[in-house]
Amino acid sequence: MDKKYKILIVDDDSEVRSIYSEVFKAEGFRVMEAVDGLDGINKAIANVPDVILTGIIMPKMDGFGMKEALSKNVATSHIPVAMFSHMGREEDRKKAEETGVKEFFVAGMITPKEVVARVIRLFTLVKYRLKLNIKGGDIARLTSDLGLKDDFSCANCGEDLALNIEMTNNERKEFTGRIICLRCDSGQLE
Ligand SMILES: [Zn+2]
Repeated sequence: MDKKYKILIVDDDSEVRSIYSEVFKAEGFRVMEAVDGLDGINKAIANVPDVILTGIIMPKMDGFGMKEALSKNVATSHIPVAMFSHMGREEDRKKAEETGVKEFFVAGMITPKEVVARVIRLFTLVKYRLKLNIKGGDIARLTSDLGLKDDFSCANCGEDLALNIEMTNNERKEFTGRIICLRCDSGQLE
């Protein structure tokens, strides 16, 4: 990697932190560490990292509480969060997804190198914004199903609509998409 990316590693177990710290340092990252969710929030605000890797169970504030607090703060809401679990409970995976955690893995089930690869993928995923001026295919059904105007203008403000697609998997070239108004939804776009 050309740029030095910053990762914040959050866990109350110093051994766990140092294992991940070493791995990410070896891959050229600048590493910051925090000992619990509260410490994680303070450090993320003071020195905004490119990505956060966190455990779940910690004193003071757990990984979910931290993620929720980070999402509510404009300074930190954009930071992708990867979470690792030691127990691999399905409810934790579900809760992680619900709180907006982008990557969830069970510690020890994947190699440290794979952890790094997945974390890098989190902030290098590609986004495209496509103008909707296409005809043919399923377009007629799409506009009718979604109640869109035929000229793809926003029913609210008249600005053009666009299809925002965001890569969710680099290898398989998979995307998720959302139709947006270039004016009304501009606040939600990066
Ligand atoms: Zn609009």
